[in-house]
Amino acid sequence: MSEFAAGDRLSVKPIKHLDELKERILSYYPNADLKIIEKAYSFSEKAHTGQIRRSGEPYIAHPLNVAGILADLHLDLDSIATGILHDTVEDTHATVEDIRREFGETIAHLVDGVTKISKMNFKTSSERQGENIRKMIVAMGKDVRVILVKLADRLHNMRTLHHMPYEKQSRIALETLEIYCPLASRMGISSLKIELEDLSFRFYRPDMYYQLVQKVQKTEKERSQYIDDVKRMITKELEQASFKSFEIQGRSKHLWSIYRKMSGRNIDYEQVFDILAFRVIVDTVSQCYEVLGHIHSLWKPIPGRFKDFIAMPKANNYQSLHTTVIGPGGEHIEIQIRTTEMHLIAERGIAAHWKYKERGKIDEETSQQFDWLKDLVTMHQQTRNSDEFLDTVKTDLFETDIYVFTPKGDVKEFPEGATPLDFAYSVHTDVGNKCVGARINGKMVPLKYQLQNGDTVEIVTSNTQQPSKDWLKMCVTTRAKSKIRVFVKEEQRKRSLLLGKELAEREFRKYGASSAKYLKGELLTKLMKDFGIHDEEEVLVRVGYGKLEPRLLVEKLAPELLQAPQKVEEKKEDGFIQKVFKSAAQKIRKSGSLVSVSGMDDVLVYYAKCCNPIPGDSIVGFITRGRGITVHRSDCRKAFEFDQLRKVDVEWNANSTQEGNGRTVRIQVVSQDMPGLLKNMSEAFAVQMINIENAQIRVTRDKKAISTFDVTVKNTSQLNQVILELQKVKGVIGVTRVGPQ
Ligand code: MN
Repeated sequence: MSEFAAGDRLSVKPIKHLDELKERILSYYPNADLKIIEKAYSFSEKAHTGQIRRSGEPYIAHPLNVAGILADLHLDLDSIATGILHDTVEDTHATVEDIRREFGETIAHLVDGVTKISKMNFKTSSERQGENIRKMIVAMGKDVRVILVKLADRLHNMRTLHHMPYEKQSRIALETLEIYCPLASRMGISSLKIELEDLSFRFYRPDMYYQLVQKVQKTEKERSQYIDDVKRMITKELEQASFKSFEIQGRSKHLWSIYRKMSGRNIDYEQVFDILAFRVIVDTVSQCYEVLGHIHSLWKPIPGRFKDFIAMPKANNYQSLHTTVIGPGGEHIEIQIRTTEMHLIAERGIAAHWKYKERGKIDEETSQQFDWLKDLVTMHQQTRNSDEFLDTVKTDLFETDIYVFTPKGDVKEFPEGATPLDFAYSVHTDVGNKCVGARINGKMVPLKYQLQNGDTVEIVTSNTQQPSKDWLKMCVTTRAKSKIRVFVKEEQRKRSLLLGKELAEREFRKYGASSAKYLKGELLTKLMKDFGIHDEEEVLVRVGYGKLEPRLLVEKLAPELLQAPQKVEEKKEDGFIQKVFKSAAQKIRKSGSLVSVSGMDDVLVYYAKCCNPIPGDSIVGFITRGRGITVHRSDCRKAFEFDQLRKVDVEWNANSTQEGNGRTVRIQVVSQDMPGLLKNMSEAFAVQMINIENAQIRVTRDKKAISTFDVTVKNTSQLNQVILELQKVKGVIGVTRVGPQ
């Protein structure tokens, strides 16, 4: 966004009469059919009859001037008519229905949107910004012109704010700074942004504002002399290089931006260097780069300050070359170089794209350039949580941008801190969901890598990958976060449903019955009513989440089963499989499980025979049919063969009181076959206070002894200790933990 003081400001001159508005429209749209404007004017004038503004003027002066600002932005007739009508529904007897009848669906929708925003009570603490903007997006619906009209409305109110009582001035000014200025900026309308910022500054911090105005005025004469000198030098240079048509503008940056520099660096006005900014406007892109060369031959550029927004336009479509050089007398001066067309877009932003000839249809290409707005709308639809929304909206609206390349050389823009995940989700939801990392400039990086300006990013995907909650901490864009949340929520539900089904079935089987037979009918309807559950699946989902005990299903749905004696089917599990719980809820609270399963309390846990995990191992859980959850080591090959939908997050429970028992693990020792070996190895276990449950030794043909021990260990660190001890034993060649890996 340009930091220029508005050289091409919107005309501040108030419009007194409809004819002046019509002239303004005809200046950029010579063949406009102004009937709709005339009709809107007489409707609005009639509706507002008798109302007076604080300034003493008839009320119609306000809507007329809002329309004037929209015409300054060269907007379409629908928007301008909306400007004239924007307060009729809120402040007069007119209704949206009246507007629809008289002016049609589009204008009615626009007026309705503006009215909704006007009725909102914005909260001006910075934490509330997300909520405010969210509200505005709801009001806007799908038509961004609602916000453009609202911005024009706010600008006219700011221009006439001196008529308001003092207390109101500062509140409205702050609201403008926090809500409307970022919006104008994000829409790329620098003329609106700059005027809104300086007006807000004037009413929010009048003391600082007038102090600064005085200081700027004091040095006015020297400064304009300096500006003339620089302009003359550039002109001379360009003329010598036989440039024919170009325009040079030079002025101080706007007051708010100077003030921000002062307060940001805690310095005085005299110490702010880069107050002056120049702009060179030429005809073609190649001339822009030529001019840059000439400027750099005149004055030394400051390293790191050159930015090429022509090759890499901003998301709001802004294009320019920016450079800061050490000008005459050692002053830092910022110079922007752009074409006439780029200039128009910089000043008017989204409004510059309006094809007013087609009655305000925004074209496909333009609307793609405003994807961030669409993202906000989707985000709003997907989350009801204001905090979640705020969290993401904040970054999208206020962070600085970085630019990276796709492998094909296209440029993408992200907020600072963006990762491969943000990039992947910007390509496609599926690419995001399957993203395992990225190759940055050809080198593999993990998901959490922060993208740097100029990186070439190639996303690496895998079909076994899927999003998890942790990913939310590894991305910053609205799009990525909302897609991940949707996936995780849906996934959790699917898993809980699956687990719920298994747990319910198991509970009913204890009574020799099948759950399917009972999960229907009047009793189910009653149970759902009692628990406030609206859909049948939700009953099992709650069982899966551990919010509803399976036993309760039997009690409520099949009380007759409780009369019959319970068939106990306690199959003895052999080998390494251990049954940790029978029916868990009470026990879990008493003793604490060795393994905890995310989001679920009431779960049966088994340890997989194939890899036999022990505390300290990285583990995953799988929901199995009729057997609760089986825990595998996460590098177990078998684990990858399971249906990934059945995967659940599990972790070792640090506080478990069961840890004392430990888990059995098998250790294999290969050694020379020599006397006293078994005794020495046994001592190694004894030192670690490890109990040997079973030991076997066989001797190979080449005189090696292979000893296998089944021992009980508390965790991996104890296991590793004993392996170290065993390796020290004389004659030992190798020690391994045995698993089918
Ligand atoms: Mn208004």
